[in-house]
Amino acid sequence: MSCDFLTLAQPGVQKLSPYVPGKPVDELARELDLDPTKIVKLASNENPLGPSPKALEAIRAELAELTRYPDGNGFELKRKLAERCGVAPTQVTLGNGSNDILELVARAYLAPGLNAVFSEHAFAVYPIATQAVGAQGKVVPAKDWGHDLDAMLAAIDDDTRVVFVANPNNPTGTWFGAQVLADFLARVPEHVLVVLDEAYIEYAEGDELPDGLEYLSRHANLLVSRTFSKAYGLAALRVGYGISSAEIADVLNRVRQPFNVNSLALAAACAALDDATYLAESRRLNDAGMAQLEEGFRKLGLDWIPSKGNFIAVNMGRDAAPLYQALLREGVIVRPVGGYGMPTYLRVSIGLPEENQRFLDALSKVLDRA
Ligand SMILES: *Cc1c(COP(=O)(O)O)cnc(C)c1O
Repeated sequence: MSCDFLTLAQPGVQKLSPYVPGKPVDELARELDLDPTKIVKLASNENPLGPSPKALEAIRAELAELTRYPDGNGFELKRKLAERCGVAPTQVTLGNGSNDILELVARAYLAPGLNAVFSEHAFAVYPIATQAVGAQGKVVPAKDWGHDLDAMLAAIDDDTRVVFVANPNNPTGTWFGAQVLADFLARVPEHVLVVLDEAYIEYAEGDELPDGLEYLSRHANLLVSRTFSKAYGLAALRVGYGISSAEIADVLNRVRQPFNVNSLALAAACAALDDATYLAESRRLNDAGMAQLEEGFRKLGLDWIPSKGNFIAVNMGRDAAPLYQALLREGVIVRPVGGYGMPTYLRVSIGLPEENQRFLDALSKVLDRA
């Protein structure tokens, strides 16, 4: 008799579904025999500008050193981030994407018998990181698509070690302001680590979105996670970071892989941090694209959830899955979010003006036919 290696997996893992990424361009091209250069992908909240030229230059300069292990302590990137964030380098944790930071937190602070609190319609990695270490995820119903922070506070119990909050949240784009964040942090029990996921902060800084770093000195139980994957345009390299107390950073450092951030990512991230022009252009393009999509939705009579990210969730008013498929046949890849409990919505990343227009035209066409 052979063993069943599914039921041998720990119970939390058995209940997980694998993360479903946006469909890659080449995969769609193969499946439907389309010209990949004609396909528009607005499915993974990637930066449509392409990487910063400064980052590309830094990567080229680093290529000759590929035989060597990267700097396992990421000295230069930590130094730069610390300076930028107004903290000590010992407060910085580097991750293989900010996903890695979320997993390090789970591995260090969660275990069977313990739980993490997060919201309905929140980022899919929170349940994965939690259940992968055998802990329980406590999902709190959302309010107007956003985090119901009062209800999340009420869900915290003696076994809670982590609460994940995303500001803004993905895939809803919802956010909360400074006063709400301050009130929340003041009420979270001291033994609960608050992971404030600011993957999109660069798109909305100063625009009703609080800067989580400003709360670090008052709250020893706060970790702010950020990434180079979105506004900094380096998603493929996998590099993100957490800013916390030095004590928490020391704990996370104990469980990370020795060389969790590769040398090309380290070099590119350092260079990207210096490219203020690129960052400003990313934000300008995003603001313009967001306005373009909202205007398009208005004309199509569709409603949407206002967003502070580089994406927007738009309501089809019916099962969105067939429309997602129909858009694929038009060579436009967006993201169905039924798996996030939003079956009538599609999440669309903000693209270049012509990409946004291609999407709106294709959407209009498939809605006419449906
Ligand atoms: C994209 C995203 C991340 C980060 O992804 P990495 O590429 O691993 O840095 C983290 N949180 C949210 C909410 C995201 O949407």
